[in-house]
Amino acid sequence: MPELPEVETVRRTLKHFVIGKEIKAIQVHYDKIIVGDSNRFVSTLTGQTIRDIDRLGKYLVFILDRDAFVSHLRMEGKYHLVDAAAPLNKHQHLSFVFSDGTALRYQDTRKFGRLELVSKETYPYDLPLSKLGPEPWEADPEAIYQKIHRSSLPIKTLLLDQRIMTGIGNIYANEICFSMSINPTTPGKRVSKKRITELIAVSKEILEQAIAQGGTTIHSFDANGITGLFQMQLKVHMQKVCPVCDGPITKEMVRGRGTYYCQACQKKKG
Ligand SMILES: [Zn+2]
Repeated sequence: MPELPEVETVRRTLKHFVIGKEIKAIQVHYDKIIVGDSNRFVSTLTGQTIRDIDRLGKYLVFILDRDAFVSHLRMEGKYHLVDAAAPLNKHQHLSFVFSDGTALRYQDTRKFGRLELVSKETYPYDLPLSKLGPEPWEADPEAIYQKIHRSSLPIKTLLLDQRIMTGIGNIYANEICFSMSINPTTPGKRVSKKRITELIAVSKEILEQAIAQGGTTIHSFDANGITGLFQMQLKVHMQKVCPVCDGPITKEMVRGRGTYYCQACQKKKG
């Protein structure tokens, strides 16, 4: 699943390729990919030019002349910029056909991704974006502490709760806990305000590193589409040996999500 750094990479790549393009037609091949009335989606956006692409958490926000739409890639969503005459494959569910003869196609093998019309003026305050917490860059330690310090849920599970803080998925939650030397199962209420402040700082640092590494792939825009997926140097997620103590990495399920940690380095509770 793409996480914030990957979505940011997709945003930067897409901006490079589609800003200034005018939508001549929209072909919807799978209706459910659009939340709400797909005819309205098509009639509203046709004729408008893409002016900017924003991102909030893992949502991409395409800004046009008068309107905007959000796109959430979920598990497998990706965009391809192709010649409008290129044959459609069965996983491509929507085509934005541009007046210059190219087309942006949304492809999604799992069909979990969604696109939805939103207001250009108020989208950060409307659903679905209004339920998101702040990204680590905007997070206020005191406010985050208030949301965490009464919870018995594991700190790693709380890190994944997009209403508390947005943008951290499973891979980076594992990496953040490792970097903090904190046991991922530590209940939120055991984590001090000082450690929450540290948690936010580490979250920023790890996401920034990932974005910087994704930045180098921006122009590798090929037949695989714009997925933003890249190999970041991961220290604990899907690893077998701890890079700090050479001990084994433990994998266990924490609230349904694969959790990787080093029992020796991440003993600390809180
Ligand atoms: Zn270790």
